[in-house]
Amino acid sequence: MKSRVLQILEDLIRIESVNPHFDQQASGEGEIVRYIERFCREAGLSAARQPVFPGRDNVLIELKTGHPDRVLLFEAHMDTVSLGSMPDPLVPVMSGDRLYGRGACDTKASLAAMLSAFEYLVHQQDSLSCDLVLCASVDEEHAYRGLMAFLEFDLPISGAVVGEPTNLELVVAHKGCVRFAVETHGKAAHSSVPHQGDNAIKQMCKVIDYFSRIVEPKLSASVHPLCGSPTISVGIIQGGSQINIVPERCRIEVDRRIIPGEDPERVMEEIGNELQTNLSPLGVSLQTRELLLDWALNTPIDSEIVLSAQRAAEQLSLNCVPSGATYGSDASKLQALKGIPSIVLGPGSIHQAHSVEEWVSMKEVELAEKLYIRLAQQFGKRS
Ligand SMILES: [Zn+2]
Repeated sequence: MKSRVLQILEDLIRIESVNPHFDQQASGEGEIVRYIERFCREAGLSAARQPVFPGRDNVLIELKTGHPDRVLLFEAHMDTVSLGSMPDPLVPVMSGDRLYGRGACDTKASLAAMLSAFEYLVHQQDSLSCDLVLCASVDEEHAYRGLMAFLEFDLPISGAVVGEPTNLELVVAHKGCVRFAVETHGKAAHSSVPHQGDNAIKQMCKVIDYFSRIVEPKLSASVHPLCGSPTISVGIIQGGSQINIVPERCRIEVDRRIIPGEDPERVMEEIGNELQTNLSPLGVSLQTRELLLDWALNTPIDSEIVLSAQRAAEQLSLNCVPSGATYGSDASKLQALKGIPSIVLGPGSIHQAHSVEEWVSMKEVELAEKLYIRLAQQFGKRS
């Protein structure tokens, strides 16, 4: 018979919850919210909505066991990236140990495991030494406004588990990012007399060259033991309007990944100053503009959330060595903005997230449910 957690995951895959940022026709998270509310009513759990955008609400599930001073948060997002060219993305298909579907891995598998764990724990409250909150959030895939709205409640949370695909590895550190645009300004002229103009694309070549020659080697030289080196990548370039006009404007968008210890605001400021200082003398007229800042995660490995997760993993004979990741998650916001020790832990591989063929290992999903249950039971327990 199919396990309860896989039944829930199949239900979640059948519900389209593409983030409207990627597809304006997409319906967002509304239907999943209604599903979770129904689920909670039947399980005897209390669920409340928190409006974030019109028609797009977070759902908060609370399991109070008489430990208001010790609250453990589980968090997983409800939105997915676009359906893309995945065949039948909303039809869960099982094949061998794999369950296919959009969101199967990122991150409906974690959400299903958390819901299933809460459904179990509602009848096992005596086994808990903490209160539990599950936040099913909106908009992680775009600008994590769901989690940011949740943080406004300022709940006294002592530790947090963020559900993202880590192959059940205990991620205590990950990178953050600084996304910014650079615009160069030249002077338009007829392309038959290019010397009368100032080519903004040629100016931008100097900027990109500066990243390759000076910035990249500098970044490679600094290494975080769990996350590796910071990186820089130019993702978009736009410039010029017509083949016979010397372009007066060129713009790039750049993704600079930061490691624990780097502060996103300071990195942004330094990049702006460094480009001005080094490229103005080369005749480059440029402006930088911040697009998105996100913190890196660096949770102390002796914090209670890490130790509880390790004890839980040991009980299930799973790997319990703290590890790092190159991608970002909601966990860094919990840590950076509220000082909440947070880990990322969930079934599935980040390689299948956002991919044309998204799937998750069913064995991992079932283990994730057990791992979350044991972690909750360990948290706050005096050893
Ligand atoms: Zn995700």
